Amino acid sequence: MRILLLGPPASGKGTQGRKLAESLGLRYLSTGALLRKNVERKTPLGLEVEKYLNRGDYVPDDLITPILIDWLEQHPPETGWVLDGYPRSLSQAQSLDAWLAAHSLDIHFAVSLEVPEEELLNRISSRVECPSCHWSGQFVQLNANSDCPKCGAPASRRADDGKENFHNRYQKFTQHTLPVINHYKAVGKLIPVPATAPKEEVAQSILSAVGGT
Ligand code: ADP
Repeated sequence: MRILLLGPPASGKGTQGRKLAESLGLRYLSTGALLRKNVERKTPLGLEVEKYLNRGDYVPDDLITPILIDWLEQHPPETGWVLDGYPRSLSQAQSLDAWLAAHSLDIHFAVSLEVPEEELLNRISSRVECPSCHWSGQFVQLNANSDCPKCGAPASRRADDGKENFHNRYQKFTQHTLPVINHYKAVGKLIPVPATAPKEEVAQSILSAVGGT
């Protein structure tokens, strides 16, 4: 199965994408996590994209699309995948559609996580992440030493989770990614999923919607 996971910043794409991929035995790619890892490691790509991530801007297509295509080429499509964070614009959707068509493939579903803006802002102001096991949650859930409740590694806020940055990411989402959601709706692939319930419930809704249970 090939699934796209779409949604505004802090809608839970990372958490749900990983869970979904695990439940269905699919590969998983988060373009955002891949970019953040490159920034942390100060790779040439990381140094190039850091300014965009710090501002909450999308990175240019000519940087992200070749990375995506590379990943697709390296992961045989028969295994199936969940893509989290790509495509984020109509031109990216066209690049992905073209690659799929050239390989006589298609996506099965585009899952769109729906969370009201106010709730997203709440989430972002207390969101913490574990760089080690990718657990993501709220500050109050951390262990005594501000460690990850799942694996015990030090957890921290994401560098791009400031209010200003969030507003910019949200604005980019409405401007560039909503049209992508409409595109997949028009071709009959869209599954909208309300995503304000607890993580496990949202995970179950997604799984049922894609026919995994
Ligand atoms: P969120 O959805 O909460 O913004 P992500 O981890 O998905 O978090 O993305 C973080 C950042 O990575 C984005 O704000 C953007 O700068 C960059 N990014 C990720 N995927 C793409 C993409 N497909 N195109 C452009 N920029 C991207």
